[in-house]
Amino acid sequence: MAKYVYFFENGKADGNAKMKALLGGKGANLAEMAQLGIPVPPGFTITTDVCAYYYQHGGEYPVELKGQVAEALHRLEELMGRKFGDPENPLLVSVRSGAALSMPGMMDTILNLGLNDHSVQGLIRLTGDERFAYDCYRRFIAMYGDVVLDLKPQSKDEHDPFDVLIENIRKKRGVEFDNQIPAPDLRDLTERYKALIRERKKVEFRHDPWDQLWGAITAVFGSWNNPRAIAYREINNIVDAMGTAVNVQSMVFGNLGEDCGTGVAFTRNPATGGNVLYGEYLINAQGEDVVAGTRTPQPINIHQKGDGGGLSLEETMPDIYAELEAIRSKLDRHYRDMQDIEFTIEKNKLWMLQTRTGKRTGFASFKIAVDMVRQGIISKQEALMRVDPDQLDQLLRPTFDPKAQRDAVKDGNLLTSGLNAGPGAATGRVVFNAHDAEEWAMRGEVVILVRLETSPDDIRGMHASRGILTSRGGMTSHAALVARQMGKVCVVGCSDLEIDYGNKRMTVGDRVIREGQYISLDGSSGEVFAGQIPTRPSEVLRVIIDKSLAPQRSQIYQDYVALLGWADEFRRLEIRTNADQPNQAEEAIAFGAEGIGLTRTEHMFFEGDRIEAVREMILAENSQGRERALAKLLPMQKEDFKGLFKVMREKPVTIRTLDPPLHEFLPKETDDKAIQKLATKLGVPYEQLFAKVVSLHEANPMLGHRGCRLGVTYPEITRMQARAVMEAACEVAREGMDVRPEIMIPLVGDVGEFKNQRDVVEAVALEVMEEYGVDIEYHIGTMIEVPRGAMTADEIAEYAEFFSFGTNDLTQTVFGISRDDAGKFLPAYVANKIWEYDPFARLDQKGVGGLMEIAVHKGRSVRPDIKIGICGEHGGDPSSVEFCHRIGLDYVSCSPYRIPVATLAAARAAIKETLAKEKLPKEDSEPKAVSTVAKRVPKKVAKK
Ligand code: PEP
Ligand code: MG
Repeated sequence: MAKYVYFFENGKADGNAKMKALLGGKGANLAEMAQLGIPVPPGFTITTDVCAYYYQHGGEYPVELKGQVAEALHRLEELMGRKFGDPENPLLVSVRSGAALSMPGMMDTILNLGLNDHSVQGLIRLTGDERFAYDCYRRFIAMYGDVVLDLKPQSKDEHDPFDVLIENIRKKRGVEFDNQIPAPDLRDLTERYKALIRERKKVEFRHDPWDQLWGAITAVFGSWNNPRAIAYREINNIVDAMGTAVNVQSMVFGNLGEDCGTGVAFTRNPATGGNVLYGEYLINAQGEDVVAGTRTPQPINIHQKGDGGGLSLEETMPDIYAELEAIRSKLDRHYRDMQDIEFTIEKNKLWMLQTRTGKRTGFASFKIAVDMVRQGIISKQEALMRVDPDQLDQLLRPTFDPKAQRDAVKDGNLLTSGLNAGPGAATGRVVFNAHDAEEWAMRGEVVILVRLETSPDDIRGMHASRGILTSRGGMTSHAALVARQMGKVCVVGCSDLEIDYGNKRMTVGDRVIREGQYISLDGSSGEVFAGQIPTRPSEVLRVIIDKSLAPQRSQIYQDYVALLGWADEFRRLEIRTNADQPNQAEEAIAFGAEGIGLTRTEHMFFEGDRIEAVREMILAENSQGRERALAKLLPMQKEDFKGLFKVMREKPVTIRTLDPPLHEFLPKETDDKAIQKLATKLGVPYEQLFAKVVSLHEANPMLGHRGCRLGVTYPEITRMQARAVMEAACEVAREGMDVRPEIMIPLVGDVGEFKNQRDVVEAVALEVMEEYGVDIEYHIGTMIEVPRGAMTADEIAEYAEFFSFGTNDLTQTVFGISRDDAGKFLPAYVANKIWEYDPFARLDQKGVGGLMEIAVHKGRSVRPDIKIGICGEHGGDPSSVEFCHRIGLDYVSCSPYRIPVATLAAARAAIKETLAKEKLPKEDSEPKAVSTVAKRVPKKVAKK
């Protein structure tokens, strides 16, 4: 008989942590904790197979399920010595979802199930606490109403209807918190809740606990496809597969008095990665209170509390805290990763309700990985595999300019401060709901989403915002968790902020900020400012780029250097940079560049008054005229190249001959004034200049007179550039420095083009070396950026010493879409899922990549040692870098600031390859490639 239900109790369990696909993350980890002897309330997990069955069979369950659930529940009754629905001694359970991949807060939870008008009396007798019993009951009805009966706010501006009723009671009684509401009011509230259900849903609240249980199980399976779960999966690229499991667990109560409580914590700090228990708790509270943000929780330990007020758990319950500390280190080491845990304290007894790999900022991810290597918990390879290259990018994020921030304080613009939930600095315009955030962002506005608290329904709006600010909630509130995961700047728990959704304004003291006004958030300090504050670079950048911070004074920098040092040990790809100027080259070297993969010489033509000589060259009537103008450019280009050589020294410097269509250097045809001005400057008649501009017009310049076609038609341009490169090289070499120039011919589609240009370059090179009496090791190669170049790479390789894939143009020409115009229709392609991503940002491995593979193969078949790289924008994109590794390129070249990302991506690609080859056991982490799992859950319940 198929097994659909897996039981767990203290010390033993049917499942374990490796069974995430079947038991969901929560269920698998509850089983694992039970086996580790960590105190877990007993319960059982209904497998994801049931979810798949449910969706494939029009909402029906396998026949065996009812019996298996009943058997497990009876076993639970026996263990607990209580009976389900018993009016004397009721067993209460929680019902929670738990997918294979953690989707925090995205699906549903129901607590205190089993309560009804009779069993609540039993609970009163059992605990002697009427207030407690009705508190549980009212929570259950509200959760049941929300999750099972779908009783939710009817518009985006409406507050939760259950919350409104409890708020009315708080106001009536003049109390601040729910735990101050007396028992009779709570009993009254249960009646009001039931009436609300009757009125809005036209059904009666169900009293039969078995009806309640099956209603809850079905709602949890149904929640797999609720809009926010779908949105979460979309945003996180989780393929709709596998479904959720359902966990039914006996209740433990954190709201049974002052010796009770509940909390959430991370085994390390999820924002900074610091190796200390980090979390929050509330005395006398249940489950969702901590994350819901209805009461602001207290810090878990003295360390976290800093100078602030409040009593930490370490102080109020030192024994419990010590036990939690022991569990923290056990879990941290057992799972070999930072864990996100939930716990409840019932009458001074600690229970663990959940453990899972904790979501963290990119910063923390990096810090934890580096620390765990130093602690001997994980290997360097594992550390590298754990830091997503894009997370590393967060280290290079801006903070506010400190002076501007001080000035903002001086000017009275510091509005308030809250908890520093998501580091970084953000400035933007205020919006008060997620819907507006999305809409404004679509219009190109940078927005800060301001809410009382966020809920999973706000996920798209949060995604669209630069920063998130809430007046309630703690460091583990929904807003904080999600923002960190998204890498958003976030401040939560700003309790002196009054937010008025209806009038779209927020008030702090006598300051009113309305929708559309600017505010600035410091997600690292928690401060909130009125107005805009300029930002400044990250700590790593301050060490590396501005040199305003000494390396030894920055731990972040030292960790950064360590991780990239390990990446260097494992990567095979060389990392080069695209740089046109010496200062860019210097920055690139500071980031670890091993050469220049692309210098776009045309960028130098816009400097100072060079553009005049360029225009003179373009407008010349014949080659003599052009040569005269080029002679003026030669010394300037030479100086540029000398600058680059001096920075790069013995490292290769790839310099590309002129590439763009010439009209890019002239005023637009329609710009009469500019043409007139230029004509006067050059001393030519307006009409003549206008005619020249018109004659240079091309219907499709991206496919027009550009690239090597310019060099073929105007060889004097190539000659001048080759001379500038070689003279610069000789002069720098004479100063005693090694130089390695590589001259690159763009847009080659035919070997004839390459030979033509190569001959020009070679003749000049020999001439210059002869003149200087210096021997330079130089190479001549080509870009592969049109399909014919790739398809005839074998012919080209006979003459070219290196290839560099220009994947910007190659993508353009393979897809047949213009780089300049794709923006108009590309979003629709991505939205309609025709393309998963923008192929100009991430390499299309099948089409463009397929051609690259052919070119690599053909090129090497003729010249086995040919050096092959990539210099299109994809050279800084992690998945594209991995592809380049796989097809055996020698290097990737990207913008200086992407070098750390490319370096890490290159190391990960190499490690992945080794792991696959050696078939080493993979990291025991959550499954990533969901699509490889055969079991798939259809989007909708199939019609029967
Ligand atoms: C390319 O086409 O990928 C490339 C690097 O050249 P450019 O972007 O200058 O056309
Ligand atoms: Mg190109």
